[in-house]
Amino acid sequence: AAAAYGLSSTATSFPNTHEKLQQAYDTPYFIDNKFVNSSTTQFIDLHDPATNELITRVPQNTDEELKAAVASAQKAFESWKSTSVLHRQQIMFKFVALIRENWDRLAASITLEQGKTFADAKGDVLRGLQVAEAACSAPEMLKGEVLEVAKDMETRTYREPLGVVAAICPFNFPAMIPLWCIPVATITGNTLILKPSERDPGAAMILAELCQKAGFPEGVVNIIHGAHRTVNFILDEPAIKAVSFVGGNKAGEYIFSRGSANGKRVQANLGAKNHAAVLPDCNKNQFLNAVVGAAFGAAGQRCMALSTLVMVGETKDWLPELAERAKTLQVNGGFEEGADLGPVISPQSKERIESLIASAEAEGATILLDGRGYKPAKYPNGNWVAPTIISNVTPNMKCYKEEIFGPVLVCLNVETLDEAIDLINSNEYGNGVAIFTRSGPTAETFRRRIEAGQVGINVPIPVPLPMFSFTGNKKSIAGGGASTFYGKPGINFYTQLKTVTSMWTSADAISKKADVAMPTHS
Ligand code: NAD
Repeated sequence: AAAAYGLSSTATSFPNTHEKLQQAYDTPYFIDNKFVNSSTTQFIDLHDPATNELITRVPQNTDEELKAAVASAQKAFESWKSTSVLHRQQIMFKFVALIRENWDRLAASITLEQGKTFADAKGDVLRGLQVAEAACSAPEMLKGEVLEVAKDMETRTYREPLGVVAAICPFNFPAMIPLWCIPVATITGNTLILKPSERDPGAAMILAELCQKAGFPEGVVNIIHGAHRTVNFILDEPAIKAVSFVGGNKAGEYIFSRGSANGKRVQANLGAKNHAAVLPDCNKNQFLNAVVGAAFGAAGQRCMALSTLVMVGETKDWLPELAERAKTLQVNGGFEEGADLGPVISPQSKERIESLIASAEAEGATILLDGRGYKPAKYPNGNWVAPTIISNVTPNMKCYKEEIFGPVLVCLNVETLDEAIDLINSNEYGNGVAIFTRSGPTAETFRRRIEAGQVGINVPIPVPLPMFSFTGNKKSIAGGGASTFYGKPGINFYTQLKTVTSMWTSADAISKKADVAMPTHS
C-alpha cells in the first residue's frame, strides 16, 4: 500500500499524512537515510483519535531489521565522531531551517495522528525546534577546561561522544520529544536510533526526511518501530551506550532499571501530578485564564498539564466562575476552526479517564463540570472527553492519587499557604508546580519550600526553554534527576569526559633518580 503514496523501498521522502488518504498505508522505518517497508507480519494499527478511522499500520520491526539499524549507526559513528563540530553545526543550521519550512506539515501530521489542535501542534513543533536552535551553540558548550596544575604540567578535558545512543518517545509530543534528542545527541558526535511512540510516529518520520535533506550522513539518525519488543532490544543491545526515555512511570522505571543494569546511561522523564496553589491576593482573571488553558489544553495530555488545584481560603468560591470559563471551550476535531481541544488518544484512554471521574463521584467528590458523554456533531466516533472539574477532592481519593492524563481538573481546599505547601510536598510526583499570588514574600516562601522541580510563579506551565534544562523531581524523573534533558545537562548526558595530563619538562631539568612516591604536583 505504501507504493500508493510514492513510497518505494528506497524513498527519501515521507508522504504528507494529513492529505486525505485514499487508503491506509504502512509506516516505513528509516535506515541509511532511506524509508524502507518492514518485512514483518506484526503491525500496530493507528487510528485517527477524532474518527477512529485507520490511518496507518506501524510495524513491529523484525530482529534482523533492529540489528541492521544498530549496525548502520555503528558504522556511521566511526566517521561522524571525527567530523568537526563546526561541520555538524552547519548541518544543524540546515535542519533548523527545514523544520521551519515544514512546520505546518509536521503539525498536520500531529493533529491527524495524536488529535491535538493544529495551533497546539504548531507549538509542539516550535518547542522542539527551539532545542535544535539551541543545539547550534554546541561549539561553545563542548569546550573543555584546562589548568596548569604544576610547573611544566597541565590537565585538560575533552567532551567525547558515547557512540550509538537510543531514544524511546511518548505519544503526547510527537515532534517535541524526538527533538529533545535528535539535535543534542547528534551535534555531540553520537549516532542515534529513535523509537517514536507506536501511536503517532508520523512527525518523527518527517523529521527523519529533514535529517536526510539537511545533510546528516547515512546512519547518523535511524528510526525503528514497535512496542515492548523493540524497547527490550534497545535495553539489551550492548552496542547502544545510552537511552533517553520520556513516558509514564510503569515503562520508565522498568527501562531505567534494565538499561542501567546493562551498563547504559539512562535518562528517564516520567509521569506527573502538577499542582497550583491559588492565593486570595492573586490576579483572579489571570489565574482563571491560566488554569483553563493549562488544565484543558491538549485535552490534558501534557506531562506539565496543570491537573490539580489547591484553593487557599476563600478562593474556593471562584470555582463556579472557573467552570463557566471552562464550559466555553470548544471541543472538536483538531483541524476545525476555533477548536480549543481535540480528542484523547484512544478509546481505552477515554474509558480510563471516565472511570476515574466515576470513582471521584463514588468517593464523595463533587462533579462541578461533567465532560462525559460529549460528542461534536461532525465527529461522533472520536474519543471525546470535554473539560471536567471535580471539586471537594481529598488526598485519599483515586482521582487525586493517579495521573489522569485527560481534560480533568481536580480541586482541593486548604486554609493556609503552609497547608498548601505540605499537601503538594506530600504528593509523590514532583514535575511542575505553580503558585498564583501578587505577594513577593509569599512566592519566595513557596519557591524555597516546594519540592517540585519546575516552579511557575503566576506561570501555569513552567517548561524551561532549552538554554535551561527540564528538571522534574521525585517520582517524575528516574535516577534522582541526575540526568536531565537538553541545556548543558543534555550535552553532558550525551558526552563523556576525557581528562589528559601532560608534562613538557626540558631535558636538563629531569633528575637522574626515579621518584616512586605518589605524585603531589606541589
Ligand atoms: P508510555 O510510557 O505508555 O510510552 C512511552 C514509550 O514507552 C513508548 O514508546 C512505548 O512504546 C514504550 N512503552 C510503553 N509501555 C512499555 C512497557 N511496559 N515496556 C516497555 N516499553 C513500553 O507513555 P505515553 O502514554 O506514550 O505518554 C504519556 C506519559 O508520558 C504520561 O505519564 C506523561 O506524564 C509522560 N510524559 C512525561 C514527560 C516528562 O518530561 N516528564 C513528557 C511527556 C510525557
